[in-house]
Amino acid sequence: MAIQPWRTGKVIRIENATYNTRRYWFEIPELSSFDFEPGQFVQLDFPIHEKPAKRWRSYSIASWPDGTNVFELVIVLVEDGAGTPWLFNNVVVGSEIPVRGPQGVFTLHEENLQKIFFLFAPVQVLRLSGQWCIISAGIILLVEIFMSSSVAALQMICYTTMN
Ligand SMILES: Cc1cc2nc3c(=O)[nH]c(=O)nc-3n(C[C@H](O)[C@H](O)[C@H](O)COP(=O)(O)OP(=O)(O)OC[C@H]3O[C@@H](n4cnc5c(N)ncnc54)[C@H](O)[C@@H]3O)c2cc1C
Repeated sequence: MAIQPWRTGKVIRIENATYNTRRYWFEIPELSSFDFEPGQFVQLDFPIHEKPAKRWRSYSIASWPDGTNVFELVIVLVEDGAGTPWLFNNVVVGSEIPVRGPQGVFTLHEENLQKIFFLFAPVQVLRLSGQWCIISAGIILLVEIFMSSSVAALQMICYTTMN
């Protein structure tokens, strides 16, 4: 897949999912449809450094492809990080952030669904909510696989469930 150009991403909605996790909905005004496969991610360019490569952060797309130019990201605040504190403190509905994507080849393909096992390490989830969430996550993961939906949505559903 060819590398996509940087485009303007407009933040159209923000919701708190937990005390340190937020859901951000981005619109790409120049596109009528933001096309991606479940499992792909985007890069955001935060104005936190003069060198471009030190500004870029990757985020999995948490929504499913719905034929619109809107997608959702679920972002955890890293308190001693450079990018997420800037995001949490400065970005509001209406803010514009350069977005590049979709990117990534770790995606689900319907023909492989019977053969795939996912191992995952919900460290953040564990720390917050205990073992019950692993069970929920496992069930959600199975549903996700069979529904061919976004594996990244697992993270979002867990955060939402915990809230
Ligand atoms: C494919 C992909 C998908 C991702 N999807 C998501 C997602 O959906 N949601 C999400 O929340 N995150 C996701 N991430 C992680 C995300 O890209 C960022 O890494 C995360 O948000 C932290 O960024 P930050 O700028 O706040 O922290 P950073 O500034 O990158 O710092 C991260 C940590 O590293 C430490 N650190 C930084 N520089 C140094 C250094 N020189 N020496 C020692 N320690 C250092 C910091 O102290 C901090 O603890 C994804 C990453 C990848 C690669």
